[in-house]
Amino acid sequence: MLDAAAPAPATPAADGAPPLLDVRGLKMHFPIHSGLLRRQVGAVKAVDGVDFTIRPGETLGLVGESGCGKSTCGRAILRLYDITEGSIRIDGVEIGHLSQHALRKHRPTMQMVFQDPQASLNPRMNVSQIIREPLDEHTKLSSAEKDEKVLELMDAVGLNRAFARRFPHAFSGGQRQRIGIARALALNPKFIVCDEPIAALDVSIQAQVVNLLEDLQEQFGLTYLFISHDLSMVRHIATRVAVMYLGRIVELAPREALYAEPLHPYTQALLSAVPEPDPALARKVERVILKGDVPSPANPPKGCNFCTRCPKVMDICHEIDPMPRHLPGGRQVACHLYEDTKTTTDPTAAHKPGHSSAQQGVSP
Ligand code: SF4
Repeated sequence: MLDAAAPAPATPAADGAPPLLDVRGLKMHFPIHSGLLRRQVGAVKAVDGVDFTIRPGETLGLVGESGCGKSTCGRAILRLYDITEGSIRIDGVEIGHLSQHALRKHRPTMQMVFQDPQASLNPRMNVSQIIREPLDEHTKLSSAEKDEKVLELMDAVGLNRAFARRFPHAFSGGQRQRIGIARALALNPKFIVCDEPIAALDVSIQAQVVNLLEDLQEQFGLTYLFISHDLSMVRHIATRVAVMYLGRIVELAPREALYAEPLHPYTQALLSAVPEPDPALARKVERVILKGDVPSPANPPKGCNFCTRCPKVMDICHEIDPMPRHLPGGRQVACHLYEDTKTTTDPTAAHKPGHSSAQQGVSP
């Protein structure tokens, strides 16, 4: 059963393995048009310069408040949008600016599990037709082979084969999500974006679906980008965690390090709000209440994106946008409170004790 305090899932790939997904400088801006001539007067910067990699077999959790751009980021990586700028390499192939026609042959490699299983399944198709659809589109299997593959996929996700002719409305939310997962697996993908896959499910079902995703990862060697606002669930499933705010990744770290000592003031605020069910394990964390609203991604603040709400804001934060600092232990944080170990000549200057979150009275 799901246990939030369970050890991190093992990463099958050895450290140093080439990444399966390499995202560099990804931007997804949506133009704003106005007036009779529909002139462009600005842009909503939903994703505004995102960099990260995911190794084979790894699960990267992508967390942040609603509207921070995490779902747009996942969709942009799968090229459900024509991206504004940046590079997306999956399994060594650059797909960032391929045409939709050229993308077709790469589609089987990358799939998506959607948030709302009700909305993502065609109500006029039965389970067999839904799971079979990608096989019809992308393979030359015979009809009998497709039927057999559909039944195997139903077995894999824990659906009774007798349900193959039933329609989506006859299933519970958890069962519908299993159908969506089976469809995502039909083409033997290497990489799956799980976009809030449990957000629309009952709490009692969420753990079952997360456990299923973990089992399938082990069985099929899958790599996940797991998008969620549920930090407790991400703590369970992710090997590393990226925290997103206003279209940017503000902190990225191995799971244990991030939850034990969050560095970015925004991460500290998010984690301070996560309830710990076991009082014996509860971190002695001062709750950080962020003031103000998230700024509009069409008009982000000058300097650091977080400067209008940050409890540790300094003068420099209003002027200079902090670039990501690379810290020991594979950590990365975009904040003026820290110095980059790759650029400083004094390695002890990075992640300065005087700047540690613990000393700033937020972390335990
Ligand atoms: Fe806060 Fe400044 Fe760090 Fe931004 S750069 S998170 S405003 S301390």
